[in-house]
Amino acid sequence: MVKYPFLPHARKYIADLGIVLDDLGELGTIIDRAKVRIAATFEFLAHVQNQAPYKRVEIEIASFPVAILVVTGVKDRLLTERYALSEARKTYNYLLEEKQEVILEIAKSFGWDISLSKDEPFPMKMHFVNYLNNTSRGRLVHSPEWKLVNRHVRNGQVYVTRKEACRLLQEEVRKYIEDKTREKISKIPPNIQEITEEIKGEFKKRKPHLTEFDQKVQAKESEYPPCIMNFLDRTSKGQHLSQTERFTLVTYLLNQGISVDRVVNLFSNIPDFREDKTRYQVEHLAGQRGSGIPYKTYNCSTLQTHGVCANPKDPICRSIKNPLTYHLRRKPSKKN
Ligand code: SF4
Repeated sequence: MVKYPFLPHARKYIADLGIVLDDLGELGTIIDRAKVRIAATFEFLAHVQNQAPYKRVEIEIASFPVAILVVTGVKDRLLTERYALSEARKTYNYLLEEKQEVILEIAKSFGWDISLSKDEPFPMKMHFVNYLNNTSRGRLVHSPEWKLVNRHVRNGQVYVTRKEACRLLQEEVRKYIEDKTREKISKIPPNIQEITEEIKGEFKKRKPHLTEFDQKVQAKESEYPPCIMNFLDRTSKGQHLSQTERFTLVTYLLNQGISVDRVVNLFSNIPDFREDKTRYQVEHLAGQRGSGIPYKTYNCSTLQTHGVCANPKDPICRSIKNPLTYHLRRKPSKKN
């Protein structure tokens, strides 16, 4: 229930605790935990989703509906989407560790027609309607591998790997949370309203930066920030890069739309280069392995702490929080 607080028995558990909306305002610890859940969505490090659950289970479970209540009260589409995605990714990471039976049970709680299959390499099969409901919007809609024509389908059942089932459930949870935040609430208790205002204010401050960060305008190489130019230059000369520098360079380039192949090739001058190992790591950071979530580049403050920021005095650098937004603040040059 801590991991999957949206399940019917978690909802029943909360109901049995006897918490009613008017009481929630009294329960400071639950509200504080709900705030942490929401505040985590403001961060760039979307891959750091596994904040340790609060040690008292009833607090952790109850903080989920309270967080939804607060997000509903803020009434900001961007916050809703970020929060739903953050919780859904957490679910995905938990699901990856589960036995198949648990994955099936959770899927069935959403009404999926899903069962085990004997067809290798697909241990599960699901009704095509459940499949389409979770691939026809969001990030999966543009990926050819999720298109129904590219799938193994028999008797109306789509065959999926265990990891694919988890990824589809991530979409289901995201939709569930977004739908919940659209429900009408008759009244928000005063203390919850206070937190709602606080979150609204904090989010408003960060929103322009977050919106900018979400833009898909890709940088040309001449627009890369000083730190990335430095890492690129040293890589092309075959010089050593620390782990932080490599991580930053690779995640930056991937987020700018550079292909895995090109990123792998960049490292071919490094004396200890091994293509298979490098490719594995780059694919992992691109979200093609492991969690399935592309990694974001470290924030400038983190790079400064590690002593790898190249030029914090650069006027653009002084105004940004993450190298990925550097090119968006540059004035277009006359040549362009
Ligand atoms: S401030 Fe940020 S973008 Fe600029 S050089 Fe330092 S780490 Fe890179």
